[in-house]
Amino acid sequence: MMAYLKKVCLSAEIYAVCLSHALSTEKEEVMGLLIGKVDEETHTSYITACRILARSDKQPDRVEISPEQLMEAVTYAEEVSKQLNDNLRVLGWYHSHPHITVSPSHVDLKTQAMYQNMDKHFVGIIFSVFSSSTSNRSKCNDIQVTCFQTNTRLNNQFSRLEICLEIIPTSSIDACSVALQSLATLPEILSKEEQEIRSNESTQFDELTKLHNNALQTLQFVNITDKVSRPLVDHLENEIRTLTQQIKLLKQERD
Ligand SMILES: [Zn+2]
Repeated sequence: MMAYLKKVCLSAEIYAVCLSHALSTEKEEVMGLLIGKVDEETHTSYITACRILARSDKQPDRVEISPEQLMEAVTYAEEVSKQLNDNLRVLGWYHSHPHITVSPSHVDLKTQAMYQNMDKHFVGIIFSVFSSSTSNRSKCNDIQVTCFQTNTRLNNQFSRLEICLEIIPTSSIDACSVALQSLATLPEILSKEEQEIRSNESTQFDELTKLHNNALQTLQFVNITDKVSRPLVDHLENEIRTLTQQIKLLKQERD
């Protein structure tokens, strides 16, 4: 069977958002949904937005999209469509593989097959982060990305179909601002996950246990601020400086 999709073009800004999300946690897999549109003639899908999802279950190698999250992403895709004056829909999902290879697991292939049954253009992207291969002794952060669909030809025998992935320049300033808005939701989502964990906690705990858990949560919040929010603010401030400089130069050129 031929792949329904020949190629996926991922906008550079969205690539940066997904990668920042993947790098935000080293212990668990993170995931999100990809939004864009398909060129039916060339079998190419263009990913121009994404939705970062909160994890409902912080288990390693357990990534699940709840129906509520999917519905929320559909609504978000409609919002972005209005903002960009385009017709976008949820077209795929991404997740991270911290410390493991980029290849989709059997569960990944099964999940992908399920979504592909609903939409033949649905695609999966995996970011392998924090991996240190034996060939890489340089201590560099080795990042690998794969784009795949599931070959469902053989009954109950899923295999991976590799899809060509191209990172393309972001099409417009509006599309950049959509991507930045997604990135800005990251600290908020990570904090929500922490709050979620505490809300499921037993009310029977004694004072000392509660105090201990409170302290741990505070530590997590400090981590989020330190490792995610602050670098994000630094990055955005740098971006403002570069753009202001560029505007100045362009104005000089014009005059
Ligand atoms: Zn996986």
